[in-house]
Amino acid sequence: MARILQIGCGGVGTVAAHKLAQNAEIFTDICIASRTQTKCEKVKAEILAKCKERGQKNIPNITTAAVDADNVQALVALMKEFKPELCINLALPYQDLTIMDACLEAGVNYLDTANYEPIDEAHFEYSWQWAYRERFEKAGLTAILGCGFDPGVSGVYTAYAAKHHFDEIQYLDIVDCNAGNHHKAFATNFNPEINIREITQKGLYYENGKWIETEPLEIHQPLTYPNIGPRESYLLHHEELESLVINFPTIKRGRFWMTFGQQYLTYLDCIQNLGMSRIDEITYEAPLADDPDKKVKVKIVPLQFLKAVLPNPQDLGENYEGETSIGCRIRGLKDGKEHTYYVYNNCSHQEAYKETGMQGVSYTTGVPAMIGAMMFVKGIWKKPGVHNVEEFDPDPFMEQLNIQGLPWHEIHDGNLEL
Ligand code: NDP
Repeated sequence: MARILQIGCGGVGTVAAHKLAQNAEIFTDICIASRTQTKCEKVKAEILAKCKERGQKNIPNITTAAVDADNVQALVALMKEFKPELCINLALPYQDLTIMDACLEAGVNYLDTANYEPIDEAHFEYSWQWAYRERFEKAGLTAILGCGFDPGVSGVYTAYAAKHHFDEIQYLDIVDCNAGNHHKAFATNFNPEINIREITQKGLYYENGKWIETEPLEIHQPLTYPNIGPRESYLLHHEELESLVINFPTIKRGRFWMTFGQQYLTYLDCIQNLGMSRIDEITYEAPLADDPDKKVKVKIVPLQFLKAVLPNPQDLGENYEGETSIGCRIRGLKDGKEHTYYVYNNCSHQEAYKETGMQGVSYTTGVPAMIGAMMFVKGIWKKPGVHNVEEFDPDPFMEQLNIQGLPWHEIHDGNLEL
C-alpha cells in the first residue's frame, strides 16, 4: 500500500511506470511527474489500457504532474502535495542532487539509477551523493543509489556471488553486450547526451588498490556472450566499480566492458571530430521562431543540439531485434580453491517492446528500479542513510528478477575469457 512519486518519463521511466502498475497490490498510488506532462499522460493511458487488456484486478491510482526537477522548491511543493513514501528519480543524472535536497526537505525516501554528473563537466563519481549520508541518516530516510541494471543488478549479482559462492572475490568483470539491431545508421539506447558523454570519457579500472586510466576505448578484446557469440568488448569507466571495490575489499581487479559495433564507433569518431560531442556553449546565429527574418545570437551546446536530431531512444523499440546480455564474471576463492562464476541475464528487445512499448535497454533499467522500490516498500531494503545496492540483502531482489521479467542464469567454473 505505497505511494510512489516517479520523476522522469523517458524510456526508463515508461518501463518503470508499467512495472509499478503491474504490481499494484504494492504500489497503490503512482504519480508520474516530468518536465513535459503530456508525455506522462500518454504513458498513463497506455498503462491503463494494458491493465485492462490483462484483466488486472488491482488497478493503481495514477496521477501525473509537470515539474522542473532542477528546482528544489517546485519538487518540495509536489512532494508535500502528493506525500509519497518514495521518490524514484528517472530523470537525468544532472537532477540527482536537487531531487535529494527536495527529499530531505519534504521527508521522502529516494532511489535512482545513475550517479550525479554536473551538466558542464563530463565526469561522474559518487562523492557528491555520498556526502548526503549523514543528512539522510539523521532524517531517518533511505536513499538507494544506482538501482538500474548496471549500476544496479551488477551490484546485486556481485553481492549474491559474495554471499553464496565465494569466501573471497578477487577478480570482477562486468560485461554488457547489446547484440540488438535497431536498423538505424546511428542511435543511442538511452539518453544520447548522457550516453555519448559516458563513452567518450577516458577508461578507468581498478587494480591492486589503484585506479588505472586508459585512453577512451583503448583496451578491447572479443568476449563470448551466451546465445549471442563473440563480440568486441571495450573497457569503460563505469560508476558501480567505485562502490563495489569499497564494499568488497578483497577485489584485486575490477573492470567494466561494453560491446560496440564498428559502425557505431565510426559514427562516434566522426561526431567527435566534427566537434558535435562538445559540452561547452558556442554562439550560434539563429532566426527568431516567430520572426524568421530577424536573427539573434544564441548559445547552444553542440551535444544537446545533436541529441535533438538523433533518433529518440524511446522510438527504437518497434523494429529492434536481438537481445542484450549483461552479467558479472567473477573469479575468487571458495574453501581455499579457485572458483569462477558467471551470472547474467539475456533480454529480448522485442519481448520488452511487446510488454512496455520500449526497447531492451530501457527495460533492463526500469525493471530493477521498480524492484528496488518494492524492496524498500516491503521494508527489506530500508536503512537510513545513502546506500549502494550491494549493501542490502541480494536474495529477495534476485528472486524478484526472475518473477518480473529479467531471469538470470549461472555458469560455475566455466572459462571467463578474462
Ligand atoms: P530520457 O532522456 O529518455 O528520459 C529522461 C526523462 O527525464 C524525460 O522524461 C525528461 O523530460 C525528464 N527530465 C529531464 N530533465 C528534467 C527536468 N529538469 N525536470 C523534470 N524532468 C526532466 O532518459 P532515459 O529514460 O534513457 O534515462 C533515464 C535515466 O536512466 C538517466 O539518468 C540514465 O542515465 C539512467 N540509465 C541508467 C542505466 C542503468 O543501467 N543504471 C541504463 C540506462 C539509463 P522530457 O521528456 O521533457 O525531456
